[in-house]
Amino acid sequence: MTADLSDLYQQIIVEHNRAPRNFKQLAHPTRRAEGANPLCGDQISLEVELDGDRIADVGFQGSGCAISQASASLLTGAVQGKTKAEAEALFREVHAMLTSGPGVPVDTAKLGKVAALGGVRQFPVRVKCASLPWHTLRAALAAAAEPVSTE
Ligand code: ZN
Repeated sequence: MTADLSDLYQQIIVEHNRAPRNFKQLAHPTRRAEGANPLCGDQISLEVELDGDRIADVGFQGSGCAISQASASLLTGAVQGKTKAEAEALFREVHAMLTSGPGVPVDTAKLGKVAALGGVRQFPVRVKCASLPWHTLRAALAAAAEPVSTE
């Protein structure tokens, strides 16, 4: 990752934490999941409105560090309008990115702005902050009854 790209990614994280997208409760959620990262104190509540197989709307509420909140914000923007299968595919891309080494190139074509989360690979302790919202989305789509914990 070049220094310029790293700066850009940092800006995206800061901006999404400052003004999170889709920070809201849905009027008609069909799925809901809770996630927590006790290591950092991040909490997220994610709601999804499914229209058939498609994510018609998605919103989150929560508290925690900038990485977790920005990740949730980026997530909601990225999966809006996607099918469950497309969202699952994106989850896999994000998970693969976050669990790869800091030197592994990020596929910006597939990930778009979400690629900004790749910057946390330089700080292994923050990877769970970034992955929390994605695991929570997966739980919501799977209609899992158990709250998600990164521990
Ligand atoms: Zn955190």
